[in-house]
Amino acid sequence: MSIAQSIAHFQRELAGTAARLVAVSKIHPPERIQEAYDAGQRLFGENRVQELLSKHPALPADIEWHLIGHLQTNKVKQIAGFVHTIQSVDSLRLLQEIDKHAARHQRRIRVLLQFHIAREDTKFGLSLPEAEELLREAGPLEHVQVAGVMGIATNTDDQAQLRREFTALRTYFEHLRQHFFAHDENFREISMGMSGDYRLALAEGSTLIRVGSAIFGSRPA
Ligand SMILES: *Cc1c(COP(=O)(O)O)cnc(C)c1O
Repeated sequence: MSIAQSIAHFQRELAGTAARLVAVSKIHPPERIQEAYDAGQRLFGENRVQELLSKHPALPADIEWHLIGHLQTNKVKQIAGFVHTIQSVDSLRLLQEIDKHAARHQRRIRVLLQFHIAREDTKFGLSLPEAEELLREAGPLEHVQVAGVMGIATNTDDQAQLRREFTALRTYFEHLRQHFFAHDENFREISMGMSGDYRLALAEGSTLIRVGSAIFGSRPA
């Protein structure tokens, strides 16, 4: 399938649902991103700041750029002027840094809280108590909008395991919405599901699927 055909496929698959596609364009050059854009795709995800910085100027300004990889606080200022959503917030320090730099640009940056849902050991991602503590300590911030949650499931074919992890993330989302965002309709995103498991994620309530290889192939052509 061409990139345009893949985008059309996902447009059909998501029609009539509330979910949207983030096309994960890491390791693929701007020309291939442009192909997806020309097929109507507007949300793109990159996992590295350096790569995002080099691609962003080469592509249309109305792209919604999502940072989906781990972000060091000292790199926030490089992307604060244009990034649309930072999906990988997992510390208060990072949240405050985003707020500070968004203020300098007179912007409000959307962020998602990244949860650790996979069986795999990783130092990234919050637990529910950690997320609650972060939100209590942060208080209201003028230049960030906490818009939901994100999680990366275990790299496995075990459908039952994947379903448990997606269900857990949806449960965290609902808990936070009830206790911190009851009157905030902008808290609405559950970012989960990738090329191998997006159908299951959609069935479990995903609102943002992050799909790379199913659109662009597994390595640059
Ligand atoms: C690479 C990546 C994806 C997309 O993975 P595919 O399996 O290529 O669809 C999704 N989310 C994150 C955080 C990633 O780093």
